[in-house]
Formats: sequence, structure tokens, C-alpha cells
Amino acid sequence: ISAAEQAVLDEIEEKEIDFLRLQFTDILGTVKNVSVPARQAEKAFTEGIYFDGSSIEGFVRIQESDMRLVPDPETFAILPWRDREDGCSARMICDVYDTTSGEPFEGDPRHVLKRALERAEDMGYTVNAAPEPEFFLFEEDENGRATTDTNDAGGYFDLAPKDLASDVRRDIIYGLEDMGFEVEASHHEVAQGQHEINFTYDDALATADNVATFRTVVRAIASEHGYHATFMPKPIPKINGSGMHTHISLFTDDGENAFHDGDDEFDLSDTAKSFLAGVLEHAPAITAVANPTVNSYKRLVPGYEAPVYVAWSDRNRSSLIRKPAARVPAASRIELRSPDPSCNPYLAIATMIHAGLDGIENDLECPDPVRENIYEFDEQTREEYGIDTLPSNLGEAVDALEDDDVVYDALGDHVAPKFVEAKRQEFEEYLIDVSQWELDRYLETF
Ligand code: GLU
Ligand code: MG
Ligand code: MG
Repeated sequence: ISAAEQAVLDEIEEKEIDFLRLQFTDILGTVKNVSVPARQAEKAFTEGIYFDGSSIEGFVRIQESDMRLVPDPETFAILPWRDREDGCSARMICDVYDTTSGEPFEGDPRHVLKRALERAEDMGYTVNAAPEPEFFLFEEDENGRATTDTNDAGGYFDLAPKDLASDVRRDIIYGLEDMGFEVEASHHEVAQGQHEINFTYDDALATADNVATFRTVVRAIASEHGYHATFMPKPIPKINGSGMHTHISLFTDDGENAFHDGDDEFDLSDTAKSFLAGVLEHAPAITAVANPTVNSYKRLVPGYEAPVYVAWSDRNRSSLIRKPAARVPAASRIELRSPDPSCNPYLAIATMIHAGLDGIENDLECPDPVRENIYEFDEQTREEYGIDTLPSNLGEAVDALEDDDVVYDALGDHVAPKFVEAKRQEFEEYLIDVSQWELDRYLETF
């Protein structure tokens, strides 16, 4: 038992925790829990907890279904929304192990991210990331089902009384802080009913863990207030959708920001520029992972502050990558604007890291920033600037993923084919469906 593990055991005793939720995610990013009585915590650390992996999306076949969960003591958190009277619960995020080989399980998204971090470490870097998830708060109907009605007419950074949902947002933030999140900022977003909560940057693994937890916490607390929080990327057409911009930077072993160069016009080091070039190069394939739903592509259209074109900028928000102004050297970073909060954060961050590291390894040349509003470029101008377009639907994105060895390999031999299969099936289901739009448009015309 390590010191960190002992500290968890002490806290379980002291805070009278009854149940432990052992958390992990499946390939699609859905959070899974195995609940055990808290007295099994010690055993969980020393032996792990066995579970049947065949019931988890994309994990294993029936005949090889035993998996072992080993909790990471650093992720211990008491669940703030559980009523103390019916027992206090805590959770820990787990690594999944293969019971036959005893090795980390290749299909565990957390392991996929750890592999990316190992590659960075071999090159002398640690990776920091900070996400900016956006979401909508919708009213529930009398049966408790989600609607797409908002009761607030707020806009960007508007304050009360317009922003009626600010109480909910405040409670969400308290809940997140209780669970150990460091919330840097939160505000009302551009669209009605839309909110954003930014976390302070942390190492990429902690950040991915946080995002995985975030959706559960936000939904649970919103529902206590009678709201449904949704991370669906584009719930309402013709207004902004919800993104999850992801800021990323590399630090060297001596704690310096490897992305910073004070002498550079953009404050970016050569390392940062090659990383950026790598992310641009692999952007179409990353999209399949960072924008993994049919609905994701309804967001990636011109005019709603979401990226469509593969370019970077130190100014405008129509580009795929933005270089935010940094007040201090440590804050030099790039912001990838394509990810949306329906993604599996472990896989999305892993693909970004591999793409960027590939750019560094191959010394890729960074193109010039594009400072104009690219939404307004016509096709010819885009061609002159050499600007590519992101995939326009899930099917094209999966094709791009299959064609890109770097991103495909980032997911690994287990996850990549399973992910492709699941997403192809999802897209095909969508293609054969007949939508409300079609009925409205054609039913009475023909
Ligand atoms: N909601 C926009 C999106 O879909 C982003 C707005 C912003 O710049 O924060 O990405
Ligand atoms: Mg935003
Ligand atoms: Mg942003």
C-alpha cells in the first residue's frame, strides 16, 4: 500500500464513506461505474476489482471477458450530490488490466492517453491541457424529459437578472470544486441557455479524467435544479453549438514551457510551431475522434464560431487553431477549437498529442497564420492560401482516420478498429433514417 493509497483509506474511515464507485470509460467516452462497499478499498488497491468486460462497449469478446480495475488514489473524490443520509459515496478513476496477461488493457482509453504521454516523455516533455467545455441548460417537461427550451435570454457574459441559470451554474461550480476541480472561469456563452466552464490547466491525464467526470457532475447538479444539461454539440440549428476548445502545451523536464519563445513574433518556439503543424496535418483524422457524433458536424459549419477550415491564427476565431495571447511565458499554448464535448477526452487528447509530436519528430514547417475571417473566403481564395476543409460529416471523418497512420496508431490496435466499426455503424444508421427536415420539405410537395 502506497502513501497515497493509505491516505485514501484514512479518508474513507474518517468521512464514513459507505460506497466507492470505481470509474472508467468505454471507447465511446461513456463513464462506467462499478460500485463496491468502501471496506473493499484496500483490496481494490492490492488486488484490483474484477468485472465482466464483455458488457462494456468496445471492450472484449465474451470468451475473454474478465477485466480488472485498479483505482488511481490520486483521483479519489467524495461525490457532493449524494445525500449524506443515505450514505456517503466517493469515487476513484481506475486503470483497466487484462486478467490473462496482467498487463494494462489496450482497450482502456486511459491507457491510450498514457501511451501518448509516454511518447512525449521519451522526447523529454510533459503535456499540459485545459479544456473549455460548453453546454446548454434546458428545461425538463412534466415527465422529467429533456426539452430544448431555455428560460434564460442571456447572451455572452451577461449578468443577472437576464441570466436566470446563473444560480445553477454557481452550484455546478461548487460541486466541481468539492470534487477537487480548479475552475478558472465560467460564463454565459453566446447562445441562449448556453454556458461554459473553464478548468485551470493541469497535466493531460488529470485533465482528461476531469472532463470524463465533468459531464456527470454537471448533469447531476443541473437535474437537482430541474434542468437538463446537454453536451450534445448542436442541439439547436442556426445558433452556436457547444465546443470543447482544448488548450495544450509541452513543458520540459526542468519545468520550462517548451512552447514559449519571447523573441518570436507569435511568442511560439520552433517546437510549438512544429507541434502546431503536426496537428494541422492530422486535423481531418483527429476530427473523427474529437467530433465523434453525427451531430458534431452540424456544429462545424461556417458562421457560428466553430472551425471549418484547417488553418491557424493568432487573432480570429474562425480558424481551427488559435494562439491565445499569453500574459506570462508559462501560459504560451495553442488552442484547438474543433473538439466538442461529446468526445472521449482520453482518446481526443491522445490523438492531438501524437499528431503534434509527429510534427516535432518530422520537423514539420508551420504555415503562416491566417488573420482574415476564413468564413468569408471563397473556394478560390482558400486554394490560394492552401487551406483545407475539415471533414463535413462523420463518414468522411472516419475515412480520414483510416487513411492516417499517425492518428490510427495513436488509438492503438484494439481501440482503432473498434472505434471505426462503431462510428461507421452510427453513420449508416443516420444515413438510412428519414428526418423531420425531409418530411417538412417533401411530404406535401411531392
Ligand atoms: N460555441 C463556439 C463553438 O462551437 C465557441 C465560442 C467561443 O469562442 O468560445 O466552438
Ligand atoms: Mg466558449
Ligand atoms: Mg476558447
